[in-house]
Amino acid sequence: MSTLTCYACGETVEAPAPPRCPCGEPRWYETDPAVAEFEWPVDLAAGTWAFADLLPVAPPADGLATASGGTPLVRTPALDEYAGAAVSVADEGRNPTGSFKDRGTAVGIEIALAEGADAVGTVSHGNMAMSVAAHAAAAGVECTVCVPDDISAERIRNIGRYDPRILRIDGDYGRLYYDAIEAGAERGIRFINSDSPGRVAGQKTTVLEALDQHRRRTGELPDAIVLPSSSGGHASGAYKGLSDLRAAGLIDPDAEPGAADAMPRLYLVQAAACAPIAEAAARGAETVERVEPGETIAYSIANPDPPSGTRALYGARETGGTAIFVPDDAIREAKRRLATAAGLTVEASSATSLAGARRLAREGEIDADESVVCIATGSGFKESVGDPDDVRTETVTLEAFPDAL
Ligand SMILES: *Cc1c(COP(=O)(O)O)cnc(C)c1O
Ligand SMILES: [Zn+2]
Repeated sequence: MSTLTCYACGETVEAPAPPRCPCGEPRWYETDPAVAEFEWPVDLAAGTWAFADLLPVAPPADGLATASGGTPLVRTPALDEYAGAAVSVADEGRNPTGSFKDRGTAVGIEIALAEGADAVGTVSHGNMAMSVAAHAAAAGVECTVCVPDDISAERIRNIGRYDPRILRIDGDYGRLYYDAIEAGAERGIRFINSDSPGRVAGQKTTVLEALDQHRRRTGELPDAIVLPSSSGGHASGAYKGLSDLRAAGLIDPDAEPGAADAMPRLYLVQAAACAPIAEAAARGAETVERVEPGETIAYSIANPDPPSGTRALYGARETGGTAIFVPDDAIREAKRRLATAAGLTVEASSATSLAGARRLAREGEIDADESVVCIATGSGFKESVGDPDDVRTETVTLEAFPDAL
């Protein structure tokens, strides 16, 4: 039997239960107390399910839900000078639908199936919509995706390839997150939203996997992790994963900074135009408040009213980190560096990790001799938003070609 708890007020309930606590904060799955026996290294080939001992549901036997995770942590010395520290990049674009969302969807779908659900849904017009639609198709369950009415044709095509029911919603898209969970529960549709407990559990594995790889290569945990953040669901998972490692004795909360098993500092990065978590951090506030959204090329991290924002900020601070924002020109520059110096094609949203590391190093939050893991949350191959428009080309005739070479 699995238990859901509230980090804020401590309330505990048996699953299945609503994803939010009566106090207003989100719930997450409590990790099995056997976590104390968890050991490095895991079998990375099992992907997300390499960490099955720390997850609330048993691994599936086959199908798409077995295919997420197992992404490489790439050491990229060519980015060190730019970032101001020793950089490794976790390439989450290598997941089945091109983002870390597949880790959370895989676990969320398995929980829904285990609990007898035959219909799932999500509120998303980006990577999460693609991920839930793909996993539902592979599991043979009905899927409803709620998108804003003004969604672009390119995005509709990306989601529509998996043939879910697509509902265009004309109205306040922020409120839809709450309405969908409630109406879905009445109609037997399991909404796997940005911070649903199953998703958060699955998304713990991004950081767990990156840390396992870092440790194999260097014998140590990284000093810092830099994570693009929007709803705060991924960040909540990252913090829960670090807490699990602490509970297993693999992170020592009392270790000297820089020790092999010291707690890595978790830094969250947002786009300056839409930065509710970073603004709360700058105010020294505990509670994240809604902001007026502005335009940014980092469209996947533009939630103005993050449902797990307060929990994400709490988690980052518990590790000694915080939340910051970076402007679009720094994001564009970092995206370009990732491609031209490291050969990595990431979404603009994901490039905020490198831009964020650079800012943190310049401000003395990260030292030059420290190691930093940048989480590149999604692939840049899906859409061209934020791509450089100054691509260099030359045209020559075939006759002139040998001399032009
Ligand atoms: C969803 C997403 C994020 C933000 O994750 P949250 O869990 O909402 O904070 C960041 N990058 C990419 C590419 C995403 O798809
Ligand atoms: Zn509570």
